[in-house]
Amino acid sequence: MHQHYYRRLAEWDQTYLWHPFTHIDQWLESDPVIITKGRGPFIYDIHGKRYYDGVSSIWLNVHGHAHPLLNQALIRQIEKISHSTLLGLANKPSIILARLLDEITPSSLKRVFFSDNGSTAVEVAIKIALQYWYNKGSTSKQYILSFTGAYHGDTTGSMTIGYSDLFHSPFKNWLSTQPRLPYPYCYRCPYGLKYPSCELACFKPVKRFIERHADELAGVIIEPVQGAAGIIPAPPEFLKALRKVCQQNNVLFILDEVATGFGKLGHWFACTLYSEISPDILCMGKGITGGYLPLAATMVTSEIFQSFKGGFEKTFYHGHSYTGNQLGCVVAIANIKLLRRKLKRLQEKIAIIKNMLK
Ligand code: PLP
Repeated sequence: MHQHYYRRLAEWDQTYLWHPFTHIDQWLESDPVIITKGRGPFIYDIHGKRYYDGVSSIWLNVHGHAHPLLNQALIRQIEKISHSTLLGLANKPSIILARLLDEITPSSLKRVFFSDNGSTAVEVAIKIALQYWYNKGSTSKQYILSFTGAYHGDTTGSMTIGYSDLFHSPFKNWLSTQPRLPYPYCYRCPYGLKYPSCELACFKPVKRFIERHADELAGVIIEPVQGAAGIIPAPPEFLKALRKVCQQNNVLFILDEVATGFGKLGHWFACTLYSEISPDILCMGKGITGGYLPLAATMVTSEIFQSFKGGFEKTFYHGHSYTGNQLGCVVAIANIKLLRRKLKRLQEKIAIIKNMLK
């Protein structure tokens, strides 16, 4: 690639583009790496230099870049139609994908609501949880309990249930205040205890809070492994106990598996790895299309779905222009079919890496 072409693109990037989560001064002081190609686990810059995509392009990529099966699925679909609305119309890829998601998620989850990214999957979950109680005639359940260090996305609804001083300070007055409790952190246990002999000391305040505020809580949302906070896994027993206490107190249990879904834990989801944490609402995104296109899904139980029946007042007035987009759905279908074949072999690889790490 000619150096002058690179320089022109770099200049246009620095003149016209605003990069996400990026310190502007630092960005403008350095020459951007401009990616032009991806093959398998590698990405290549405009000069042909190869990089190992160790973060899977921020936890998205599942089978590597430019996978022939995923490429083919897209090419075949693009010849037919790229998008038609799901508002008042159905389309084949979204139907097939919803059916596949039913197969790979816990059996109690039945209905799929599509959106565009992890944040919107969470927004949809919050709104469904609040309206579920509203539709059932319970107007006091207005709060969603979340955990410190949580990251559920950058739209304002998802921001209210995550928190970072640095990210959120300018919006403090705008964002509503939702309750938040400490996330379990075994590696640096604030109680100075060791799991499992700790007997889940960190769960006691959570249990107390939920029992005391059950009338005000619409739901509890948790990442089974906190991603943005630093890859902090909650002990499975904590998640199981949380699920149970939610059930006992009529509080919806919402799992945000945007980061942990589609093979990232060596299984479809944390909730398929530990069956006792089957949620009322499941949020997924990122790896759903194998890292190809923006698509996300929020899945709910039949019971929740049923509560939205019964006329205009109970309808869920939510949707996005690209909801159920055909291209996103076909590549998600191809991703799931491929992952289905690979998940078994993944267990062998996990065992080898685990041994090496030990
Ligand atoms: N939820 C979790 C757990 C995430 O890790 C992320 C993104 O990192 C999101 C939600 C938001 O997803 P998106 O960036 O696709 O909006």
